[in-house]
Amino acid sequence: MTYTYGVPQEQDWNKLSDVEFRTLVAAEFETHHPMQLRFPPRRLRWAENKAWYLRMAAKGWIAPSWPCEFGGMGLSPSKMLIFLEEPERCGLARFPDTGILMVAPVLIRYGAEAQRRRYLPPILACEEIWCQGYSEPNAGSDLASLRTEARLEGDDFIIDGQKTWTTLAHDATHMFVLARTDKHAKKQEGISFLLVDMDTPGVTVRPIRDIAGHEEFCEVFLDQVRTPAANLVGGLNRGWTVAKSLLGFERIHIGSPKLPEYGLQVLQSVARQQGMLQDPVFRDRLARLQLDVAHLGDIYGHFAAIVGRGEPLGPEVSVLKIWATETFQRIAEMIIETAGDCGSHAGSVPLGQDSIDILAPFYKARPSTIYGGSNEIQRNILARQVLNLPG
Ligand SMILES: Cc1cc2nc3c(=O)[nH]c(=O)nc-3n(C[C@H](O)[C@H](O)[C@H](O)COP(=O)(O)OP(=O)(O)OC[C@H]3O[C@@H](n4cnc5c(N)ncnc54)[C@H](O)[C@@H]3O)c2cc1C
Repeated sequence: MTYTYGVPQEQDWNKLSDVEFRTLVAAEFETHHPMQLRFPPRRLRWAENKAWYLRMAAKGWIAPSWPCEFGGMGLSPSKMLIFLEEPERCGLARFPDTGILMVAPVLIRYGAEAQRRRYLPPILACEEIWCQGYSEPNAGSDLASLRTEARLEGDDFIIDGQKTWTTLAHDATHMFVLARTDKHAKKQEGISFLLVDMDTPGVTVRPIRDIAGHEEFCEVFLDQVRTPAANLVGGLNRGWTVAKSLLGFERIHIGSPKLPEYGLQVLQSVARQQGMLQDPVFRDRLARLQLDVAHLGDIYGHFAAIVGRGEPLGPEVSVLKIWATETFQRIAEMIIETAGDCGSHAGSVPLGQDSIDILAPFYKARPSTIYGGSNEIQRNILARQVLNLPG
């Protein structure tokens, strides 16, 4: 068999039982994933975890969900969940995986063959790193109001506008952009999905410093940026359909109980050092949080089983994101309270025999109710589509 796109998959992973596959994946991550990269207090930059991902790429483990013919692992839905859960269990930081998780599935589904041949191999080899250019200063939840424009001139689109909250744009070589290509159409119908090389003249990336002093997001300014018409994906004015198709798997991923479970571990470490573990009031509050996390695990298991059977998730999956993120926020706030005087110290603080970054879970938890569709929007979905309440 010839592989046009990347590393050949020598193994049919789906022939293994789920238990065998889990054991294999767990062993790989437990043994080889560098300790210093586990449970990082912030989103890591590409330079920090590049070596690890190049190792995964060389092994052919970089694209678990892609079909084998494109160089992916071709995992079945249940194996895919295992491949998400095991790395998470050992605190694997998310890498700039936008190319793997977002661009490639779009190109595989909507792209032209020439686009797949051009863009998939460097994503698999971790040579080209992508960022997501959707949100704008006045178009977040209401994304269809976006104002970045693209007009066709000869063989190129000329793009003008501004994107914001673009995660790790300063590490990206490429960005996929939603831009308005028909100002007169209904707002969802006049949008196109374009691929842009970040080195193109007119692209300016300005990092945004967050409250913790990290620069994870950027503003991206597009000033007369030329991108070849061949970089239009899915057809002119069809960008909204393409963009919507990306939302599916994200919803269950954000609802995983791993972050709250990690929060509980930190909470118990802090409580131990503060001598709180025997305090009956503390124990009562801890037990409530533990029950909420256990309940989340049950709900996650319910939705994971649906995904594992290869069935589509209904709108009720919104409850998972709300439950996971808000439970994590409550745990993060209790960590600060339990740490007492140290609760407002930035960075790792010595606490008894441990050194603990008290604020790290808080900084992770705060934005989780915003990204991936804010929790208010998820509540609207539940109200309208599950409970049939008037809009
Ligand atoms: C960690 C993180 C990473 C991100 N990475 C990216 C990225 O890489 N690329 C990208 O394009 N974007 C990214 N974003 C942006 C993200 O998609 C937006 O923040 C999100 O869509 C919300 O938009 P907004 O910030 O403009 O808030 P707004 O939409 O202005 O919302 C403000 C508040 O109003 C509420 N609200 C809005 N509409 C309604 C409504 N109809 N009913 C009830 N309440 C409502 C919201 O819930 C929120 O509380 C990221 C955001 C975060 C936090």
